[in-house]
Amino acid sequence: MRLSTYFLPTLKETPSDAKVPSHQLMLRAGMIRQLTSGVYNWLPLGLRVLKKIENIVREEMDAAGAQEVFLPMVQPAELWQETGRWDKMEEGLMLKLKDRHDHNACLGPTHEEVITDIFRKNIKSYRQLPLNLYQIQTKFRDEFRPRFGLMRGREFMMKDAYSFDIDKEKSMDAYEIMRQAYHKIFTRMGLDYRQVAADSGDIGGDKSHEFQVLAETGEDDLIFDKDGDYAVNVEKHDPEKCDVPEDRLEQKKGIEVGHIFYLGTTYSSPMKALVQSDKGEEVTVHMGCYGIGVSRIAAAAIEQCHDENGIIWPTPLAPYQIGLINLRTGNDACDSACEKLYADLQAQGFEVLYDDREEPAGAKFANMDLIGLPWQCIVGPKGLDAGKIEWKNRATGERLELPLGQTPEALSCPKQKAA
Ligand code: ATP
Ligand code: MG
Repeated sequence: MRLSTYFLPTLKETPSDAKVPSHQLMLRAGMIRQLTSGVYNWLPLGLRVLKKIENIVREEMDAAGAQEVFLPMVQPAELWQETGRWDKMEEGLMLKLKDRHDHNACLGPTHEEVITDIFRKNIKSYRQLPLNLYQIQTKFRDEFRPRFGLMRGREFMMKDAYSFDIDKEKSMDAYEIMRQAYHKIFTRMGLDYRQVAADSGDIGGDKSHEFQVLAETGEDDLIFDKDGDYAVNVEKHDPEKCDVPEDRLEQKKGIEVGHIFYLGTTYSSPMKALVQSDKGEEVTVHMGCYGIGVSRIAAAAIEQCHDENGIIWPTPLAPYQIGLINLRTGNDACDSACEKLYADLQAQGFEVLYDDREEPAGAKFANMDLIGLPWQCIVGPKGLDAGKIEWKNRATGERLELPLGQTPEALSCPKQKAA
C-alpha cells in the first residue's frame, strides 16, 4: 500500500477524551474513530489488525475441530425467556428493541440461547456428537460505563464457540481441547499472557478459566507463580491453600482477552436440548462456551507493547511487516530504488506500507514509529550511493546497514512460514 493514497488519518495530538495508551494510539494511528459512546468505526489500518487476530483465531479453532457458523445479531425475546435471562441478565446490559409488529427482541450480547436452539432442532443422536460450533461476530452489550476505547466497548467483536457432548466427562475433553487451542492462539499472537482459574459468574456451570494479557492498565489484579503455572485473581488467592513460596509470587494487572466455561446443562436443560444415548435414552446434552475478545485483543496488544513514540506491534498482529520510507520522494535514484524494493519485497510475500509522500524525513519517521510496524526500511540518497539501505527494528531500535536486496535475518516472512 502507498501512503500517498492510503486512508490513514493520523493525529499529532493526543485526543483529550482518551485515557489509556491503546485508545490514544489507535486514534492517533488512524486505526479507529468513535461513532458514539462505546461504538467505533474501524478504518483500513485498524481493520488489517482485526483481520490478523481473526485469522489466527479461526485457524486454531478449525484446527481444534470446531466448525464456523454465523448467527443473527438480532434475537427474539422468546428464546431468552426460555432460560429466564430476558429478565435476569445484568441490569440494562441487553439492548432491547421492538419491531413493527410489536415483537420484543434484543441485540445479541452473547449467543448461548441461539446456538442451543439450533442444536435442539437439528441434532438428535449421540452419534452426531461431539460438536463444537463457533462464530466471529459483533456483540452488543449496553455497558454502564463504556471506557478505554476498544477495551470496554458497547459494540465489539467476539469469537464465541459452543461445545456439545453426551456427558460431563466428554464435555471436559472438549473443554481441554479448547483450553489448549487458546494457548496456541495467544502464543501465536506473541502476547505475554496468563491462564487464570476463574469464577463462572453470570453464565453458570462450574469450571472456568480466563486468559489475561499482562498490562499496567488491566482491570483485573492477578497473582501468579513466576516459575510455574499457579495463577489466580487476587480475590481468589488464599495464601493458606497456596503452596507456592511467597518469593516466587508476583502480582500484576491483566486484561481479560479470553474466557472458557463448562456450562453443564444450564442452557440445555431449560431449552430441552436432548439427544438419544447409545442405550436409547433421552439425555440432556452437556455444553461448554468459549469466548475471545477479538477487538479487545487489538487494544490489549498495544497496552502491552508501546513506547512514548507509538505502537510496537508483535509481528503476527502487525498490519504490515515493513514500512518502506523514501527519504527523498522526487529524487530519481530514491524513487526507482524504492519502487523496486516495494515490488520485490511484496513478491517475497511481505506486506509493505510504502511512504511515497512528499513530506520531511522527520515527519515520516515519526509517522512510522507511531503506527508501529516491526521493521522500517529507510532509503536515502547517501546510502544508495554506497549501495546500502538502512533497516530499523521498531521494538529494539536496532539499526542495520544492508546491501540493496538483502533483508534482516530477524525479519520473518509470513508466506515462507506458511509454506
Ligand atoms: P468482562 O469481565 O471484561 O466484562 P465478560 O466476562 O463479561 O468480560 P465474556 O462474556 O466472558 O466477557 O466474553 C468473552 C470475551 O469478550 C471476554 O473475555 C472479553 O475479552 C470480551 N469482552 C467482553 N466484554 C467486552 C466489552 N465490553 N468490550 C470488548 N470486549 C469485551
Ligand atoms: Mg469473562
